[in-house]
Amino acid sequence: MTATDSSAVAPSAGSGQRRGFGIDVGGSGVKGGIVDLDTGQLIGDRFKLPTPQPATPDAVAKTVAAVTREFGWTEKLGVTYPGVVTNGIVRTAANVDKAWIGVNARDAISAELDGQQITVLNDADAAGLAEEKFGAGRDNTGVIVLLTFGTGIGSAVIHNGVLLPNTEFGHLEVGGKEAEHRAASSVKERKDWSYERWTVEVTSVLVAIENAIWPDLFIAGGGISRKAHKWIPLLKNRVPVVAAALQNTAGIVGAAMAADVDVTATAK
Ligand code: BGC
Repeated sequence: MTATDSSAVAPSAGSGQRRGFGIDVGGSGVKGGIVDLDTGQLIGDRFKLPTPQPATPDAVAKTVAAVTREFGWTEKLGVTYPGVVTNGIVRTAANVDKAWIGVNARDAISAELDGQQITVLNDADAAGLAEEKFGAGRDNTGVIVLLTFGTGIGSAVIHNGVLLPNTEFGHLEVGGKEAEHRAASSVKERKDWSYERWTVEVTSVLVAIENAIWPDLFIAGGGISRKAHKWIPLLKNRVPVVAAALQNTAGIVGAAMAADVDVTATAK
């Protein structure tokens, strides 16, 4: 995707269609799009700008604002962040600029956008919301765990549309090592492992999660899920594992869903 892919779409259709807006902040790109909240489809194209380097809070907030303005979007919006976010405040930065820790991301982005209402949530939580409702989990009524395999491992736990935010299964200690240092897809790349070798590690992480919370279904996301047919059959854990269905729109769609109901609002 390039900056030329977007097409301006008015925020409200006037046709009863419920529209939302989501932005997925990733390591290489900040991607946004208008979402049909009833179907989970994007309305028009995604628009992507490169993630600024260094990806400081200020630089990323400006980029998020630029992507939003590209669509002329003036209503509430959702934004993903690759770490723990409680009530708008960033708590961890495992694979991103440490300057994020303690920043009120919601206020930082809102300040760049004339005070629009912003919901900031964990990237895997956003993907999980979207996959559970519109993707690989749509026919499952049990407890779903989505895991994203990339630089790290992200996790989301959802039950009947309700997200338990900020689970961090990527940082569970499994056999004396953090799960994401054992089984992220970046580990497979770095060590030049075969799928057979890597899935031994993935299996141990899945079994550790199963023993702790007994989910009904795992959804595997992240870039490596596009090759799911090569490795999901090799897993030896108990619970079924299916590949994510929405691929690179899940973060955008889930962010828009989260903003719609403000899943991050804390109890008063
Ligand atoms: C972070 C998670 C994040 C995942 C994927 C992990 O290192 O702790 O919060 O969801 O990476 O970006």
